[in-house]
Amino acid sequence: MEKLIITVALTGNVHEKKTNPDLPVTPEEIAADVKRCTDAGASVFHVHARDSQHKPTLDESIYKEIVKKIKAVSPDVIIQLSTGARAGKGYKDRAAPVRLLPEMASFTTGSSNLPGIIYENSPEFIEFLAGVFKETGVKPEIEVFETGMINNALHLEKKGFIEFPIHFDFVLGAPGAMPGTVKNLLFLSESIPPDSTWTVAGIGKAEIPLSTAAIVLGGHVRIGLEDNLYMPDGSPASNVKLVEKIVTIAGEIGRDIAGPDEARSILTIPHENKNRICLS
Ligand code: ZN
Repeated sequence: MEKLIITVALTGNVHEKKTNPDLPVTPEEIAADVKRCTDAGASVFHVHARDSQHKPTLDESIYKEIVKKIKAVSPDVIIQLSTGARAGKGYKDRAAPVRLLPEMASFTTGSSNLPGIIYENSPEFIEFLAGVFKETGVKPEIEVFETGMINNALHLEKKGFIEFPIHFDFVLGAPGAMPGTVKNLLFLSESIPPDSTWTVAGIGKAEIPLSTAAIVLGGHVRIGLEDNLYMPDGSPASNVKLVEKIVTIAGEIGRDIAGPDEARSILTIPHENKNRICLS
């Protein structure tokens, strides 16, 4: 079986330090957490930015600061910037992280109701963002909250915006979207073209069980405090504790862990894109 890629969703846009003091929010904290998680076996980092008040932001200068600090401590990891909508709704603002030329960026190809918001990705916005991915050559991670989002991604391929093989992330267990069950994971993983790669992001209590299912099925895993604040025993999680848990489970099952360069090859990210990101 292919080696296992561990992605860490470090911060997200929702949780606050008062719920979990280990949530990294400043560029310094994020970089220090990346280093810990890299040493533990993670190779891809899904990054959100927060401003000085710890509120979600798409501010380019803060993203650059975070990336610089990550590169200083973990130069080899794959950085995946978020294009999520909680930090800003303007088309240009949401595309700004892609224009910084990270190796990867997230791309949700549809709308859903999430706690407190309509996570809105209109057909027009999806085509706009797809155009930016095409223009920049950044590898999208297609975030799938509902089955139709797979079809939308395949439609973008047909129209020439994105290329096969496509990498999908199945986000399961978010209140308002598809429940975090193994049945749903099987259904989604069998609904994508055979040369695709996939990751699962189980939300809350679904995180470790769905990650375990993905390890067995040959998929990859995304864990982290963005998605889940607790360990399976109910104690507070930290990003590194979650990575260590996945490494332990993969070890028990006999699945090896991919390093960053192996992850690049599996995800078909050109190795020369490693240091393309704009930092000045
Ligand atoms: Zn995110």
